[in-house]
Amino acid sequence: MPEKGTVVMSRYELGRSLGHGTFSKVYQARSLVSGETVAVKVIDKEKALRAGAGMVDQIEREVAVMRLVGRHPNVVRLHEVMASRSKIYFVMELVRGGELLARLVAGGGRLGEDAARRYFHQLVAAVDFCHSRGVYHRDLKPENLLVDDDGSGGGGNLKVTDFGLSALSASRRHDGLLHTTCGTPSYVAPEIIGDKGYDGATADVWSCGVILFLLLAGYLPFFDSNLMEMYKKITNGEFKVPDWFTPDARSLISRLLDPNPTTRITIDELVKHPWFKKGHTKRPASS
Ligand code: ADP
Ligand code: MG
Repeated sequence: MPEKGTVVMSRYELGRSLGHGTFSKVYQARSLVSGETVAVKVIDKEKALRAGAGMVDQIEREVAVMRLVGRHPNVVRLHEVMASRSKIYFVMELVRGGELLARLVAGGGRLGEDAARRYFHQLVAAVDFCHSRGVYHRDLKPENLLVDDDGSGGGGNLKVTDFGLSALSASRRHDGLLHTTCGTPSYVAPEIIGDKGYDGATADVWSCGVILFLLLAGYLPFFDSNLMEMYKKITNGEFKVPDWFTPDARSLISRLLDPNPTTRITIDELVKHPWFKKGHTKRPASS
């Protein structure tokens, strides 16, 4: 992987590392043309290829999806994509505040209801927008939620990133359901574990439920050092709500973490829930 100070494609000078994934590293970078500071995700083509031909499709899908949904204020914007012989570069909007997870840790482990609600509104606005464009993220978790902090003390805006596992509705089988098992264990919906085929929308709503629980509780609803045990808890919707959750928070969480995807709350219903609506009168903008 390139080092700090490397100039890529004669256009961007790489700065400090911002994070990494399996085939990629993300750097802060400066455009040598405009001077603008951006984030560049560098993907190692060879590593990706070695992981199988499917990986290349996945990268192409990630680009297509980011182009489709990157205009929403709560989705990380993709400026351009470049490729050299050995690398693919995603030039993105730089989200300066880092990961939401880090904020949780810094805040003593959990957020107050109002702060959690603010981020949750923004998360739901982004997810609702993606779904309206036929895009299912499928890997919603705090590491993929960045916060754009302007330092004004308002907490910044949440931006969803990492559409590497996302699906477009066109990739559905003829039964209209998705079949690929993906996502990160703690955040994965029961219908994905069961591989009965699932609707991408309900699975994203489940992950939003896990994220909201984590924000309010400071720990995950489903956890077990044994993966099979954890899957069992997820499938049965077995979790314990902490004492400090208000009745409205409890009620919303139980509707989001309903193991049955056909009775789980939908986005249309959830924006009308009293916990969601508190202090807000209108649905967050979705376009
Ligand atoms: P992967 O697909 O390999 O998981 P991500 O797109 O999730 O890669 O990026 C990995 C990490 O890099 C993120 O969790 C985040 O910490 C950081 N990162 C990614 N994109 C940006 C960005 N636009 N601005 C700031 N940090 C970013
Ligand atoms: Mg990621």
